[in-house]
Amino acid sequence: MQRIGLGYDVHRFAPGRPLILGGVRIEHDQGLAGHSDADAVLHAVTDAILGAIAAGDIGEHFPDTDPKWAGADSAVFVRRALELADKQGFRIGNCDVTIMAERPKLTSHKAAMRRRIAELLGVEPSAVSVKAKTNEGMGCIGRAEGIAAMAVVMLASK
Ligand code: MG
Repeated sequence: MQRIGLGYDVHRFAPGRPLILGGVRIEHDQGLAGHSDADAVLHAVTDAILGAIAAGDIGEHFPDTDPKWAGADSAVFVRRALELADKQGFRIGNCDVTIMAERPKLTSHKAAMRRRIAELLGVEPSAVSVKAKTNEGMGCIGRAEGIAAMAVVMLASK
C-alpha cells in the first residue's frame, strides 16, 4: 500500500535572522520570519508526511502560539510527523521538493539540503530530490519578499 502527500509553505524575509532551508544554514543578508526556525522546506516536508496519512497540518500539531516551538529546529516537526506515519505502518518511499526563491542562489546548497532531508527521513539521498527555481521576477517571491517551498512525499507500507 502506498500513500502520497503534498506540502506547501511560505515565509517572508526578515532582517537579523539566519536563513535555514532544508535543515541547512545558508549564508544570506537576511533570514525568514517565523515562530520556529522558519525552515519553509522542512515545514513543507512535514505537511507532506502529515498529508499522506491524513493527519491534519503542521499548524494543528505545532501551533505558533505555543512558546514550546519558539525558535524550534524544524527537524523536530519532521521527526514527529514520521513517528505518526510509523504508527500507521508507513515508511518514507521518496520525497521531492521544489524551492521557489529569487534570492539567494540555491544551486550550491541543494546537495547539502538533500543529504540533510534524507538523514531526517531515514532514507538514502537517492530517495530525496531538491530542486530550486526563481519566480521569474513575478509576484511576492519574484520581488524577493520571501521563500516558498513545495514537497511531495510517497509513503510505503512497512
Ligand atoms: Mg512554516
